[in-house]
Amino acid sequence: MATLLLAETAGGALAPATAKALTAATAIGGAVHILVAGSGLAAAAEQAAKLAGVEKVLLADSATFDHVLAEPTAALILGLAGAYDVILAPSTSTTKNVLPRVAALLDVAQISDIIKVVAADTFERPIYAGNAIQTVRSKDAKKVITVRTTAFSAAGEGGSAAIETIAGPADPGLSSFKSEALAQSERPELTAAKIIVSGGRGLGSAENFAKYIEPVANRLNAAIGASRAAVDAGYAPNDLQVGQTGKAVAPDLYVAVGISGAIQHLAGMKDSKIIVAINKDEEAPIYQVADFGLVADLFNALPELDAELAKS
Ligand code: FAD
Repeated sequence: MATLLLAETAGGALAPATAKALTAATAIGGAVHILVAGSGLAAAAEQAAKLAGVEKVLLADSATFDHVLAEPTAALILGLAGAYDVILAPSTSTTKNVLPRVAALLDVAQISDIIKVVAADTFERPIYAGNAIQTVRSKDAKKVITVRTTAFSAAGEGGSAAIETIAGPADPGLSSFKSEALAQSERPELTAAKIIVSGGRGLGSAENFAKYIEPVANRLNAAIGASRAAVDAGYAPNDLQVGQTGKAVAPDLYVAVGISGAIQHLAGMKDSKIIVAINKDEEAPIYQVADFGLVADLFNALPELDAELAKS
């Protein structure tokens, strides 16, 4: 049994999602090799080699794999796939592009977004926006799996795997990279943040969203999130949306402000370690998942919270 784990990188470094997917790979059992693909990623490969439980790191050091386009990256993985029983990756927007292509070309069914490894061939995954958990047993000889990283803790360091540089196939020439526009922010990235302050329709306007959410988020060095209603109303940009059709997050602390707690929102944040809700409606469903609730008008509660945080 051997697993090939496609690493996620960001800015030349290994993204935290990789160490979380490694925990899932280790639970499946057998040797785990991490594939780092792209130019200028020697430092990321070294980070991967230090993770506990990694037997080998394969570094495909070529500009062909920059931007992790599905076509060349899938060709690279398929060239290696013969030696592996499991091809696995953290579930990210990048791998959601690559792994379905790998699964299709291997003619197997992808097992997406696993949240638990029950056995080497059996996995749990959320369906219906997290309202039901499906247990899937795969009979495919090769399993292609994406991992919901919020469900796994990150593997620690302590490994000293060998790094092998591999050539990889030529670019099949089916796609090319044009450009990307990255949002600049001083704040922690939403999916990696330890604290998130999230605002909903209760904020009432974009001005209020900035005026009430930002100061508290600044005090806590938190990322800012939003409900879909807040995004749709133009209070917050799209990339801040948390939920079924937004980002899945699991910070240490999630503060939901003026958010009712619709199932589609809960699907993206209910794995947070501590959930605090501020809502003036004591019947709001968010209180069913909240560890701490403050039934209050947010326009009073947030300035008071800000003032208290300023004292600490
Ligand atoms: P509301 O439900 O309107 O709640 C506002 C809350 O603010 C209320 O509970 C109210 O009591 C409280 N409030 C109002 N004023 C104050 C005040 N002054 N002080 C304190 N509290 C106050 N939603 C998501 O968030 N993420 C998703 O990814 C997502 N995906 C979806 C996918 C599909 C297919 C569908 C159908 C829906 C999806 N939704 C998603 C939408 C979801 O169903 C809800 O409509 C949305 O989450 C509601 O956002 P909200 O809680 O901000 O607004």
